[in-house]
Amino acid sequence: MLLEELSKIKEYLLSLMFPAQCLGCGQPNLYLCPGCLKSILLIDYFVCPVCRHPSANGQTCPDCRSKTNLDGLIYALNYDQSLVRQAIHAIKYSFIQDLMPIVAELLIKVLDQSHSHQDFSADVIVPIPLHRRKLAQRGFNQAELLAKILGQKYSWSINNKILQKTKSTRSQTGLPRLKRLVNVKDIFSVKAPESIKNKNIILVDDVCTTGATLEEAAKILKQHGAAKVWAITLARGER
Ligand SMILES: [Zn+2]
Ligand SMILES: [Zn+2]
Repeated sequence: MLLEELSKIKEYLLSLMFPAQCLGCGQPNLYLCPGCLKSILLIDYFVCPVCRHPSANGQTCPDCRSKTNLDGLIYALNYDQSLVRQAIHAIKYSFIQDLMPIVAELLIKVLDQSHSHQDFSADVIVPIPLHRRKLAQRGFNQAELLAKILGQKYSWSINNKILQKTKSTRSQTGLPRLKRLVNVKDIFSVKAPESIKNKNIILVDDVCTTGATLEEAAKILKQHGAAKVWAITLARGER
């Protein structure tokens, strides 16, 4: 609770120092003006998380099933669109939590249009955790902010205790693909594994690039008996 309050204070102080302006066009007093918000492209078809060929609802295609622990991945935005990248960076590194509901609304639009979430029958949604040091530094976990919005919208129950990040990792940004895979190996542990046995789980994170982090999380959840593990992220980047 204290952490949350401190992060609100930090946000307030930052807003005094850096008054809101549209990330796209610089218009004052808001973070994304209606025009710039409209210029953000929503994905219009889903792909298999591994081979990226078109796939219904983002399900892992039959050919890729042996290569991943993820049963599917859904995202709404292209992380390579600069406004998308700027918005997500602003949330994470400039601590502008107010932007999350605005960007999450785009994801909800894609989910609602595709009805993909109706196939889930999710028992629980699990935000990708931050290492406690990173959490203390940032004051909030952006994946958890998103999970809360989705949980409220679709009546999914959230569990932010099951998955714990036990190893702190350096940022994946800028690391070559192979290094990213090594970077995330064994970074998670599972608490109270009995609570996930035979459960359908949706992992929630802000961005997926190589998918290495989600894969690592899905792997450990399945090792502890989870039935299905899907993932939902705001955006995905090219490799
Ligand atoms: Zn604008
Ligand atoms: Zn595939």
